[in-house]
Amino acid sequence: MRLVRLIANLGYGSRKEVAWMFREGRVTDPDGEVLYADDKVDHSQIRIDGEPLDPPTGIVLMMNKPLGVTCSRKDQGRVVYDLLPPRYRSRDPALSTVGRLDRDTSGLLLLTDDGALLHRIISPRANIAKIYEATLAQDLRGDEQALFASGTLMLESETTPLLPATLEVLAPRSVRLSITEGRYHQVRRMFAATSNRVDALHRAAMGGLQLDDLPMGQWRMLDADEIARIF
Ligand code: URA
Repeated sequence: MRLVRLIANLGYGSRKEVAWMFREGRVTDPDGEVLYADDKVDHSQIRIDGEPLDPPTGIVLMMNKPLGVTCSRKDQGRVVYDLLPPRYRSRDPALSTVGRLDRDTSGLLLLTDDGALLHRIISPRANIAKIYEATLAQDLRGDEQALFASGTLMLESETTPLLPATLEVLAPRSVRLSITEGRYHQVRRMFAATSNRVDALHRAAMGGLQLDDLPMGQWRMLDADEIARIF
Protein backbone atom coordinates (compact mmCIF):
# COMPACT_ATOMS: atom_id res chain seq x y z
CA MET A 1 0.00 0.00 0.00
CA ARG A 2 1.31 3.44 -0.87
CA LEU A 3 2.44 5.43 2.14
CA VAL A 4 -0.09 8.24 1.68
CA ARG A 5 -2.97 5.79 1.76
CA LEU A 6 -1.53 3.82 4.64
CA ILE A 7 -1.09 6.92 6.79
CA ALA A 8 -4.46 8.42 5.77
CA ASN A 9 -6.17 5.13 6.70
CA LEU A 10 -4.70 5.42 10.17
CA GLY A 11 -6.66 8.63 10.65
CA TYR A 12 -3.85 11.19 10.26
CA GLY A 13 -5.85 13.14 7.67
CA SER A 14 -7.28 12.93 4.19
CA ARG A 15 -4.96 11.67 1.46
CA LYS A 16 -4.50 15.28 0.39
CA GLU A 17 -3.55 16.33 3.89
CA VAL A 18 -1.14 13.42 4.25
CA ALA A 19 0.43 14.27 0.88
CA TRP A 20 1.10 17.74 2.32
CA MET A 21 2.68 16.21 5.40
CA PHE A 22 5.21 14.56 3.07
CA ARG A 23 5.88 17.84 1.27
CA GLU A 24 6.40 19.59 4.59
CA GLY A 25 8.98 16.95 5.61
CA ARG A 26 6.96 15.82 8.61
CA VAL A 27 7.20 12.15 7.63
CA THR A 28 10.65 10.76 8.44
CA ASP A 29 12.51 7.61 9.35
CA PRO A 30 13.75 7.02 12.94
CA ASP A 31 16.92 9.04 12.21
CA GLY A 32 14.93 12.05 11.05
CA GLU A 33 15.63 11.48 7.33
CA VAL A 34 12.70 12.79 5.33
CA LEU A 35 10.62 10.11 3.62
CA TYR A 36 8.88 10.49 0.27
CA ALA A 37 5.47 9.25 -0.66
CA ASP A 38 6.90 6.66 -3.09
CA ASP A 39 9.40 5.21 -0.60
CA LYS A 40 9.06 1.57 0.33
CA VAL A 41 9.54 1.40 4.07
CA ASP A 42 8.32 -0.80 6.84
CA HIS A 43 5.53 0.55 9.05
CA SER A 44 7.85 0.43 12.09
CA GLN A 45 10.31 2.79 10.38
CA ILE A 46 7.87 5.64 9.88
CA ARG A 47 7.74 8.69 12.14
CA ILE A 48 5.29 11.58 11.93
CA ASP A 49 6.56 14.74 13.57
CA GLY A 50 9.13 12.46 15.22
CA GLU A 51 6.50 10.13 16.73
CA PRO A 52 6.09 6.46 15.76
CA LEU A 53 3.14 5.76 13.51
CA ASP A 54 0.05 4.32 15.20
CA PRO A 55 -0.21 0.52 14.95
CA PRO A 56 -1.37 -0.94 11.63
CA THR A 57 -4.82 -2.47 11.14
CA GLY A 58 -5.63 -5.61 13.09
CA ILE A 59 -5.59 -4.06 16.55
CA VAL A 60 -7.54 -4.99 19.67
CA LEU A 61 -7.89 -2.46 22.48
CA MET A 62 -8.99 -3.22 25.99
CA MET A 63 -10.76 -0.41 27.82
CA ASN A 64 -11.99 -0.07 31.36
CA LYS A 65 -15.23 1.60 30.39
CA PRO A 66 -16.39 4.20 32.89
CA LEU A 67 -20.01 4.84 33.79
CA GLY A 68 -21.91 7.46 31.80
CA VAL A 69 -20.51 6.74 28.33
CA THR A 70 -22.23 4.68 25.65
CA CYS A 71 -20.89 2.24 23.09
CA SER A 72 -22.93 3.79 20.31
CA ARG A 73 -21.26 5.83 17.59
CA LYS A 74 -24.28 8.08 17.13
CA ASP A 75 -25.16 8.94 20.73
CA GLN A 76 -25.35 12.69 21.37
CA GLY A 77 -23.69 12.27 24.78
CA ARG A 78 -20.23 10.93 25.63
CA VAL A 79 -19.24 7.78 23.80
CA VAL A 80 -16.39 5.35 24.35
CA TYR A 81 -14.67 6.57 21.18
CA ASP A 82 -14.21 9.97 22.90
CA LEU A 83 -11.78 8.26 25.28
CA LEU A 84 -9.40 7.40 22.43
CA PRO A 85 -7.09 9.80 20.58
CA PRO A 86 -9.27 11.66 18.00
CA ARG A 87 -7.31 10.03 15.14
CA TYR A 88 -8.56 6.60 16.18
CA ARG A 89 -12.07 7.66 15.21
CA SER A 90 -11.01 8.15 11.61
CA ARG A 91 -9.20 4.87 11.07
CA ASP A 92 -10.21 2.82 8.03
CA PRO A 93 -11.20 0.06 8.67
CA ALA A 94 -13.05 1.57 11.61
CA LEU A 95 -12.75 0.48 15.20
CA SER A 96 -15.91 -1.07 16.66
CA THR A 97 -16.80 -2.25 20.12
CA VAL A 98 -16.94 -6.01 20.55
CA GLY A 99 -20.53 -6.19 21.77
CA ARG A 100 -21.78 -3.43 24.02
CA LEU A 101 -21.97 -2.40 27.64
CA ASP A 102 -24.82 -0.21 28.85
CA ARG A 103 -24.21 3.43 29.75
CA ASP A 104 -24.55 2.42 33.41
CA THR A 105 -22.16 -0.54 33.20
CA SER A 106 -18.42 -0.19 33.75
CA GLY A 107 -15.55 -2.52 33.01
CA LEU A 108 -13.93 -4.62 30.33
CA LEU A 109 -14.76 -3.50 26.82
CA LEU A 110 -12.88 -4.59 23.72
CA LEU A 111 -12.60 -2.56 20.53
CA THR A 112 -11.17 -3.85 17.28
CA ASP A 113 -10.88 -3.07 13.58
CA ASP A 114 -10.69 -6.79 12.79
CA GLY A 115 -14.21 -7.77 11.71
CA ALA A 116 -13.46 -11.51 11.55
CA LEU A 117 -12.05 -11.50 15.07
CA LEU A 118 -15.01 -9.47 16.33
CA HIS A 119 -17.45 -12.04 14.97
CA ARG A 120 -15.40 -14.91 16.36
CA ILE A 121 -15.64 -13.37 19.84
CA ILE A 122 -19.34 -12.54 19.79
CA SER A 123 -20.45 -15.71 17.99
CA PRO A 124 -22.63 -17.87 20.26
CA ARG A 125 -20.58 -20.83 19.06
CA ALA A 126 -17.47 -19.35 20.70
CA ASN A 127 -19.15 -19.85 24.08
CA ILE A 128 -16.97 -17.20 25.71
CA ALA A 129 -17.79 -16.50 29.36
CA LYS A 130 -18.45 -12.86 30.24
CA ILE A 131 -17.99 -12.35 33.95
CA TYR A 132 -19.89 -9.58 35.69
CA GLU A 133 -19.83 -8.25 39.23
CA ALA A 134 -23.20 -6.95 40.31
CA THR A 135 -24.54 -5.13 43.34
CA LEU A 136 -28.20 -5.79 43.91
CA ALA A 137 -30.91 -3.58 45.34
CA GLN A 138 -32.28 -6.37 47.52
CA ASP A 139 -30.94 -9.51 49.19
CA LEU A 140 -30.92 -12.62 47.01
CA ARG A 141 -33.99 -14.71 47.65
CA GLY A 142 -32.10 -18.02 47.47
CA ASP A 143 -33.20 -19.76 44.29
CA GLU A 144 -31.19 -17.64 41.82
CA GLN A 145 -28.18 -19.96 41.51
CA ALA A 146 -30.35 -22.94 40.57
CA LEU A 147 -32.61 -20.87 38.32
CA PHE A 148 -29.73 -19.31 36.36
CA ALA A 149 -27.98 -22.68 36.06
CA SER A 150 -31.10 -24.45 34.85
CA GLY A 151 -31.16 -23.28 31.26
CA THR A 152 -34.90 -22.70 31.57
CA LEU A 153 -35.04 -19.00 32.49
CA MET A 154 -37.09 -17.14 29.93
CA LEU A 155 -36.66 -13.37 29.78
CA GLU A 156 -39.67 -11.20 29.11
CA SER A 157 -40.56 -10.88 25.40
CA GLU A 158 -38.07 -13.60 24.36
CA THR A 159 -38.89 -16.91 22.74
CA THR A 160 -35.91 -19.05 23.78
CA PRO A 161 -34.66 -19.68 27.32
CA LEU A 162 -31.26 -18.45 28.44
CA LEU A 163 -28.32 -20.82 28.36
CA PRO A 164 -27.15 -21.96 31.80
CA ALA A 165 -25.24 -19.28 33.73
CA THR A 166 -23.09 -19.53 36.85
CA LEU A 167 -23.83 -17.36 39.85
CA GLU A 168 -21.32 -16.96 42.66
CA VAL A 169 -22.71 -15.35 45.80
CA LEU A 170 -20.22 -13.03 47.51
CA ALA A 171 -22.68 -11.41 49.93
CA PRO A 172 -26.50 -11.20 50.07
CA ARG A 173 -26.40 -8.28 47.60
CA SER A 174 -23.10 -8.89 45.86
CA VAL A 175 -22.56 -11.52 43.15
CA ARG A 176 -20.34 -12.63 40.28
CA LEU A 177 -22.25 -13.89 37.30
CA SER A 178 -20.79 -15.75 34.33
CA ILE A 179 -22.86 -15.79 31.13
CA THR A 180 -21.98 -16.98 27.64
CA GLU A 181 -24.65 -15.07 25.73
CA GLY A 182 -24.95 -11.35 25.13
CA ARG A 183 -28.64 -10.59 25.01
CA TYR A 184 -29.93 -7.06 25.40
CA HIS A 185 -29.52 -5.86 29.03
CA GLN A 186 -29.15 -9.53 29.89
CA VAL A 187 -27.80 -9.31 33.43
CA ARG A 188 -30.24 -6.62 34.52
CA ARG A 189 -33.13 -8.57 33.02
CA MET A 190 -32.03 -11.82 34.68
CA PHE A 191 -32.24 -10.20 38.10
CA ALA A 192 -35.46 -8.41 37.15
CA ALA A 193 -36.85 -11.90 36.47
CA THR A 194 -36.14 -12.71 40.15
CA SER A 195 -37.90 -9.52 41.33
CA ASN A 196 -34.57 -7.85 42.11
CA ARG A 197 -32.72 -4.93 40.57
CA VAL A 198 -29.08 -4.41 39.63
CA ASP A 199 -27.77 -1.22 41.23
CA ALA A 200 -24.20 -1.48 39.92
CA LEU A 201 -22.73 -3.63 37.15
CA HIS A 202 -19.10 -4.12 36.18
CA ARG A 203 -17.60 -6.56 33.66
CA ALA A 204 -14.43 -8.08 35.09
CA ALA A 205 -13.42 -10.62 32.45
CA MET A 206 -14.08 -12.13 29.02
CA GLY A 207 -12.90 -15.71 28.74
CA GLY A 208 -9.49 -15.80 30.41
CA LEU A 209 -8.84 -12.10 29.83
CA GLN A 210 -9.14 -9.97 32.97
CA LEU A 211 -9.19 -6.20 33.31
CA ASP A 212 -6.54 -6.40 36.03
CA ASP A 213 -5.44 -2.98 37.23
CA LEU A 214 -6.30 -0.92 34.14
CA PRO A 215 -7.67 2.31 35.64
CA MET A 216 -11.24 3.37 34.86
CA GLY A 217 -11.46 5.32 31.60
CA GLN A 218 -8.06 4.03 30.41
CA TRP A 219 -7.30 1.71 27.54
CA ARG A 220 -4.36 -0.20 26.13
CA MET A 221 -3.47 -2.34 23.15
CA LEU A 222 -3.65 -6.12 23.61
CA ASP A 223 -0.82 -8.35 22.42
CA ALA A 224 -1.34 -11.71 20.68
CA ASP A 225 -1.06 -13.71 23.93
CA GLU A 226 -3.75 -11.59 25.58
CA ILE A 227 -6.06 -11.92 22.57
CA ALA A 228 -5.60 -15.70 22.68
CA ARG A 229 -6.66 -15.67 26.34
CA ILE A 230 -10.18 -14.56 25.32
CA PHE A 231 -10.84 -17.94 23.65
N1 URA B 1 -25.95 -7.08 30.88
C1 URA B 1 -26.55 -5.91 31.14
O1 URA B 1 -27.68 -5.87 31.63
N2 URA B 1 -25.90 -4.78 30.84
C2 URA B 1 -24.64 -4.76 30.33
O2 URA B 1 -24.08 -3.69 30.10
C3 URA B 1 -24.03 -5.99 30.06
C4 URA B 1 -24.71 -7.15 30.34
